[in-house]
Amino acid sequence: MKKIYLYFVLVILICFLIPIIFTDVNMDKKNSNTENDIVQNEVTKSTYNYKDYNTIKLLHKDTSKVEEIKLDEYLYGVVSAEMPASFEEEALKAQAVVARTYTIYKIIHNKGKHGDKDADICDDSTCCQAWISKDDRLNKWKDEEREENWNKIVNAVNNTQGKIILYNGEPINAFFHSNSGGTTEAPLDVWGGSGYPYLQAVETSGEDAYSQYASSKTVSKKEFEEIIKKEHSDFKIDFSQKDCMKIEEYTDGNRVKKIKIGNLEFSGVEVRSLFGLRSANFKITIESDNIKFEVTGYGHGVGMSQTGADSLAKQGYNYEDIIKHFYTGVEIKDM
Ligand SMILES: [Zn+2]
Repeated sequence: MKKIYLYFVLVILICFLIPIIFTDVNMDKKNSNTENDIVQNEVTKSTYNYKDYNTIKLLHKDTSKVEEIKLDEYLYGVVSAEMPASFEEEALKAQAVVARTYTIYKIIHNKGKHGDKDADICDDSTCCQAWISKDDRLNKWKDEEREENWNKIVNAVNNTQGKIILYNGEPINAFFHSNSGGTTEAPLDVWGGSGYPYLQAVETSGEDAYSQYASSKTVSKKEFEEIIKKEHSDFKIDFSQKDCMKIEEYTDGNRVKKIKIGNLEFSGVEVRSLFGLRSANFKITIESDNIKFEVTGYGHGVGMSQTGADSLAKQGYNYEDIIKHFYTGVEIKDM
C-alpha cells in the first residue's frame, strides 16, 4: 500500500513539477537582456516561406565578397541602416515593405548589374540600398537602447513578413528618399525616364518638423565659377547683371527644373550635383562676395519620403496607408 502511495506521488511530481520548472526557465529567458535572446526572437518568428527568394546574394562593396543571407535577415540590416529606430512603428513597417519590394525588383530586373559578381544586390546606398551588419548597428546605439531598438526593427520586418507592393500585379521599383520638402517628385523630372505610373508628385504634411527639411550652402563667387567651369569650360558670368542667375521653370514637385546661370542653362538636378546640395528644391541668392543656396528637403524626392512616412504615422496612418499615399494606385500583397 505504501509503495502504491509513493508511486502516486512520483507521478504527480512528473506531471506537474517538471513542466513548471521548464516554464520558469523560458520565462527567465524572455525577460533577460542578452543579445542571444534577440537572435532567438528573430529566428523563431521567421516562418514565412519565400519560395524563390528564401536567401539572397548580398555583395559587400568594401570587401567585394558575396554573402548568402536570408531575405528577412537582410531586411533587418536594410531597415536599420535606412531609417532611425526612433521613428514610428508604422513608418518602420512601411520601410520594411518598401525595402522588401525594392530588393525583389532588383533581383528580377538588375541581373548582371554588379559586373562579374554573382550578386542580387549590394550594400552601397548609391547603387542599391544601404545595409548594416547587426554588430555594427548595435555598436552605434547606446547600451540602454540597443535591445529595444533592435527589436523594433525586427518586429517591423517580421510583422510585415512576405508583404510586397504591386502595380498591375508586378513588384514596383520602390524608390525612397529622406525628406520630400513637402512634395515628392516624378522620376521624369529627376532622371528623365518615365514608365512608372505609380511614381507621381504627392504632397505630405509635417515634413518641416524634421532636421532634414532645411539646409543651406554658401560658396564664394570665385569657387562658384570654378566649380561650373570644371564641367563647362565655356561658362561665363557677370555677377553685376541683375538676371545673371534666374530660375526659369519648376517641376511638379516644386524643385528647380531649369535655371539660367550666366550664359548657360542648367537642370536643377545638375546644379544639385555640382554643388552637393541636399535636393534640387533650392533658392539661389548673391550675398556680397558669396552665392547662397537655401535648400528644402533631402534626396531625389522620388517615391516614399522617410520623414514623410514618420509624419503620416504620427497622424494615425498605418503602414499600408503610408505606402498607398506615396505610390499611386498600388496594392500590397503577399509574395
Ligand atoms: Zn548595387
